Amino acid sequence: MTSPDRPQQPDARRTAAEAAAAAAAAAEGGTVEPAPRSSSALQPPTERFATRTAGMTASEIRALFAVASRPEVVSLAGGMPNLAALPLQSLATEVADLVETDGMSALQYGSAQGVPQLREQICEVMREEGIEGDPNDVVVTVGSQMALDLITRIFVDPGDVVLAEGPSYVGALGSFAAYQARVVHVALDEHGLVPELLQEALESLARQGITPKFLYTIPNFHNPAGVTLTHERRPRILDLCRRYGVMVVEDNPYGLLGFTGEHHPALRSYDADVIYLGSFSKTFASGLRVGWALVPPLVRDRLVLAAESATLCPPSFTQMLVSRYLSHHDWRSQVKTFSENYRERRDAMLAALDAYLPEGCSWNSPDGGFFVWVTVPEGIDTKAMLPRAVTARVAYASGTGFYADGFGSRQLRLSFCYPTPERITEGVRRLAAVLEAELDVVRTFGTPTRPELRRGPQSPSPDTN
Ligand code: PMP
Repeated sequence: MTSPDRPQQPDARRTAAEAAAAAAAAAEGGTVEPAPRSSSALQPPTERFATRTAGMTASEIRALFAVASRPEVVSLAGGMPNLAALPLQSLATEVADLVETDGMSALQYGSAQGVPQLREQICEVMREEGIEGDPNDVVVTVGSQMALDLITRIFVDPGDVVLAEGPSYVGALGSFAAYQARVVHVALDEHGLVPELLQEALESLARQGITPKFLYTIPNFHNPAGVTLTHERRPRILDLCRRYGVMVVEDNPYGLLGFTGEHHPALRSYDADVIYLGSFSKTFASGLRVGWALVPPLVRDRLVLAAESATLCPPSFTQMLVSRYLSHHDWRSQVKTFSENYRERRDAMLAALDAYLPEGCSWNSPDGGFFVWVTVPEGIDTKAMLPRAVTARVAYASGTGFYADGFGSRQLRLSFCYPTPERITEGVRRLAAVLEAELDVVRTFGTPTRPELRRGPQSPSPDTN
């Protein structure tokens, strides 16, 4: 073990140097030989890892990250928000002022539940989607990912069933795996989660005597499927969950990023028992890591205790910065500007898909958010194809990462949030060429019979989130 006040072991130093050399080499597009390891290296024996870590696997694109992040590769894989429109100069002034005038509290520990003023402002943000929340029921977290993790921690015992859309957010699947939940997927269509299929799943589980711990759902501009739950389906989903005694966890980081100007009513606006997760990652800045959960009072105290044990308190500094930003800046028009940028990119992607993708491919047309979900012709395995795509200088996220059970090999997720419209067009053109080559192989050798493999979900990472 190393500690801050003890000198680092030579091997630890070498590892850091190796990492730096590897990063530098990767940035240059080169490779680096690993330094030889000494036999005295303090390697923790892997058999000592807790059983629950067995479900933790790195994302496919992370394995290719060094190559996929080279400038010549167009990455349509990542979910990184496009921050180009942020007013950096006035944020710099805000940061300086925060330190000068409120530094003593901004740089100090704070409340485990989050800064009170920010919790009030969060309620104002949620009002945009019809939610009347009480600031006392808001728990600020380090991104909504932490809220997801904590909610799972306080509700899920190993083997418990969690319902989730199929496909679902890779980071949620990672948390569910970490707490050894059994994920049962319910399919979605172009109108979002299908109530009839949810009912079937609930009935089938009830017959086995199983009540799922919760339904995890992303109603707006779904990650990865890009679809939005229709207003007509929203109360039906809630009715079903109520009838079967299943709690609902609504994850809504993209809700305000619609392209039509319309805001969809949150599930939480229909029912105060819904657990609602929100985030400033997409509406302001993901690097600040400020998200939240709005929970019923009965859940709140347990959640705060769990949050305390994870981080003591969320960072005062970033919370206070978000709070100032919300007070002093026209955040609504900033969100509108973000949405306009994303809509322009979505249009470029849809036009390129229309122009270049081979026959037999299909995709949806999202009304907001970051993602298009593509289905490719039978015989093509998007996971197996990924290294060939990266060699052809385009990256995507293969569908298998978005299922807990290995499905999704005929799907892939394309994100339009980050690259310029020109790069998006070029990326799709390259992807189309790779798909054409795969189709040639399928036509020549036929469709391989390939059983869908069962495999664990991947860990979230900035490159696939
Ligand atoms: N939920 C969904 C559906 C997401 O796509 C993401 C991140 N991409 C998160 C939660 C986590 O976001 P954050 O932790 O940055 O708030």
